[in-house]
Amino acid sequence: MKSRQELLRILKKQFGFNSFRPGQEETIIKLLAGEDVLTVLPTGAGKSLLYQLPAYLLTGTVIIVSPLISLMQDQVDRLHRQGEKRVVMLNSQLVGAERTAVLKRLQSFKFVFTSPEMLDNDNVLTAFNNVDVAMLVIDEAHCISQWGPDFRPEYLLLKDVRQQLGKPTTLMLTATATPRIRQDIQAKMGINDAQQIVESVDRPNIFLAVQKVYRQQEKDEELLRLVQKFKGPGIIYFASRKMASQMAEWLAERTGLNIAAYHAGITAIDRFQIQRQFMANELQVICATSAFGMGIDKNDVRFVIHYHLPNNLENYLQEIGRAGRDGKQSLAVLLYADGDEMIQRQLTSIDIPPVELLQQIKEHRLSSVVLGEQAELFNFYLAHHSSPEQIVSIFKHRKYQMEQELQEMLGYINNRGCRRKYLLTYFGEQLSTNKENCCDFDKEEWQTEIDLPASKLVTK
Ligand code: ADP
Ligand code: MG
Repeated sequence: MKSRQELLRILKKQFGFNSFRPGQEETIIKLLAGEDVLTVLPTGAGKSLLYQLPAYLLTGTVIIVSPLISLMQDQVDRLHRQGEKRVVMLNSQLVGAERTAVLKRLQSFKFVFTSPEMLDNDNVLTAFNNVDVAMLVIDEAHCISQWGPDFRPEYLLLKDVRQQLGKPTTLMLTATATPRIRQDIQAKMGINDAQQIVESVDRPNIFLAVQKVYRQQEKDEELLRLVQKFKGPGIIYFASRKMASQMAEWLAERTGLNIAAYHAGITAIDRFQIQRQFMANELQVICATSAFGMGIDKNDVRFVIHYHLPNNLENYLQEIGRAGRDGKQSLAVLLYADGDEMIQRQLTSIDIPPVELLQQIKEHRLSSVVLGEQAELFNFYLAHHSSPEQIVSIFKHRKYQMEQELQEMLGYINNRGCRRKYLLTYFGEQLSTNKENCCDFDKEEWQTEIDLPASKLVTK
């Protein structure tokens, strides 16, 4: 059993931090005692530390399962920067001799980042027979739940994988999970007695508001007013790249502020430039799309405005959470015009595959060249014994569920009570105290009454 002092010493020595953030120490203590833990901490709260620190106190290898190669790469880069060299990525990019070599010396790594499909492979699992597995980490654990917005069927393999690895201590990590999803994560992993460490999703320093308008033009004027008053640093979210670019230009012209668009259609060099300028306060406002997981770790973002509504409350919370990381007064405003939800419905529409098509894929193994991206998903299901009928019902379920999520989002917009209370109730929490700058329900004249701390904006 490690003492608090000992943990703090390692925190300082290995990571250079002076104190734990909420939820970190509790999780680490339980893991070191060999308990399985499900930890829910907001984005940016420091979930990586939860497995990185124990890795230095346990013997053996930590396996981290991640849904995306970009997420793995990000973690690997960070460990390298921290001076940790015993790190490897085991994914589909690794082929032939390279892969064989990695599999041979698996036990020499402290951290192995991999995907669920990779672990489901017999060769890979056999290679892990010779490895002393210190811990299994499921990052983005909500992906295992069909109730969650990012369901990934391959995550369902992880229950068996864990069994085959000999049931190592398991850490499940996620940023937002309702009580139902938390329950489902544990059920799908087959770990019913996990400890849950859940920090509140509430961000008390972010004032919540919705502005309803009747016509598009009115929305633009409203946006302009907000940007003129609150200036920045701020982020405005749009549903499309085109709108983000157009509005960046339009706003820049009218406000004289430095404003740029930031989305997946922008070159890597420009993105890097924009990030740098935003960090340096040379850019005041960024017009972005949500598709872009912004690598921006700026703690004095004063406002997040949504020009279009996101498709669910999980994403909304994540996006507004980029405001006010410094704890100072910040603002989240959602602009809504009647019928805006149609845009989301179009963007996220799911085509339910016909049973006959699935049957054909099953018989002829049609590839993604013929069918596009979805084929991979179909092939995955079919390879794991789901019948075409089952697949269709999974898609139907997903479609139904996305509409439900959108309705919850609209519920927030049309809510006549406290917005914070609505959000927290959705995530299974209670509002503890009524605070002064809470939402537009308590403070109707917020546009004139809310003051944001001034930022040191650099003008060129
Ligand atoms: P998450 O996965 O929860 O989104 P990360 O693990 O990526 O968050 O951490 C976000 C940032 O917080 C990183 O820059 C990390 O170095 C920093 N961080 C984590 N724990 C601490 C701590 N105890 N003190 C200070 N900074 C921390
Ligand atoms: Mg993370």
